[in-house]
Amino acid sequence: MKKRTFLKLAGTAGAGMLIAPFVGCGTGDARTQERDAPVKGMKPKPFLFEQEALGYGFDALAPRIDAATMEIHFGKHHAGYVNKLNKAIGAANGAYDGMELVDLLGTLQPDQTALRNNGGGHYNHTLYWRTLTPGGSPEPAGALREELESAFGSVGAFTEAFATAGAKRFGSGWAWLIRNEEGQLEVTSTPNQDNPLMSQIVDRPGTPLLGMDVWEHAYYLNYQNRRKAYISAFMSLVNWDVVAVNASAQ
Ligand code: MN
Repeated sequence: MKKRTFLKLAGTAGAGMLIAPFVGCGTGDARTQERDAPVKGMKPKPFLFEQEALGYGFDALAPRIDAATMEIHFGKHHAGYVNKLNKAIGAANGAYDGMELVDLLGTLQPDQTALRNNGGGHYNHTLYWRTLTPGGSPEPAGALREELESAFGSVGAFTEAFATAGAKRFGSGWAWLIRNEEGQLEVTSTPNQDNPLMSQIVDRPGTPLLGMDVWEHAYYLNYQNRRKAYISAFMSLVNWDVVAVNASAQ
């Protein structure tokens, strides 16, 4: 049994409810009603994933991450992944209806390009927004701190390893703190929108606890080519309480 992240996304049928952030939800009742309805030509509502609310304003992370970048990143890039994910789900003829995104990602093969890019894009950005907080937060404490120290030697050594993974990622991609399949904390990196939950695709599978977007769209308006400056800004905005919850989730 794989460990499950708190980040479960299920799609929704129609304009329905969001059961949990990573769960595209299927409200079976609504679908059944529609199938039974005596109106010819009425189609079942599609199974849809939705963005969850950002939780803070577009300008809340400024000046370290500027409002224009946030608005485009959330409203265009992330929204685009969700729209394309829903199209890919729709093209799969119900094969993924009702499946949580964490489980869907684990089924993917390398050639499933649309689900890979857009399912990853949706998960990755949801985690990204959640693990940032205006003004940042105090350093990791408690069990998370102890685990970081055990795995990396110190919190500072972890930070350096994580920042280096982001800086060295060629082109577009992500740096990750994961809990690997051996249950250990590990720093990894993936290209494009690949996610550590894609166990049949990535080199080092695991459960993401913290993810840093190093695509140029995450920083170019404010930092241009200075990715390392953006990485420092990102690290100063991490919500370690959320990372600790992720680390403790079973
Ligand atoms: Mn992005």
